[in-house]
Amino acid sequence: MATALYPGSFDPVTYGHLDVVRRGVALFERVVVAVGQRHEKQTIFDVDERVRLFREAMAGMERVEVESFEGLVVDFARKTGASVLLRGLRTMSDFEYEFQMAQTNRHLAPEIDSVFVTPSPQHSFLSSSLIKEVAQAGGAVEEFVPPHVAAALREKLAG
Ligand code: ADP
Repeated sequence: MATALYPGSFDPVTYGHLDVVRRGVALFERVVVAVGQRHEKQTIFDVDERVRLFREAMAGMERVEVESFEGLVVDFARKTGASVLLRGLRTMSDFEYEFQMAQTNRHLAPEIDSVFVTPSPQHSFLSSSLIKEVAQAGGAVEEFVPPHVAAALREKLAG
């Protein structure tokens, strides 16, 4: 029974990410969501806020933990005892990037495998960056993110 690490920026968590976690929990004994610091990537929520928003979205769900990490994903996977990297695939454009990253991670840690799941069709077009754009332009995001995330987005964008 394996532990899967689900790494990402989650800026912020969306119903698409939650779809991936649910599928991971059905496949693996334990899922550790790993929220990356990603200094090179500009995020609107800092890492502690992203962890808090994801934890709240997972409240009451068993066998899921949410942690932050810095550095290599494979190092954090080893530290948490994960033998699988869980990622979501929405489109062919995701595939190219995910394939490169999976091959790089395999090179760095041959004992760890990447496993990809596809979301339900209604979640397949969701991305944190598009949701931020919609929110920034004053659009409603309640269909795409849990209520506490929509509220956090509104508050953040109000300055
Ligand atoms: P990253 O910066 O690592 O791409 P993201 O938070 O954007 O972080 O995404 C983390 C993972 O979740 C990636 O594997 C991405 O493909 C997947 N993902 C993002 N949105 C969705 C979605 N709507 N459905 C399925 N998987 C998704």
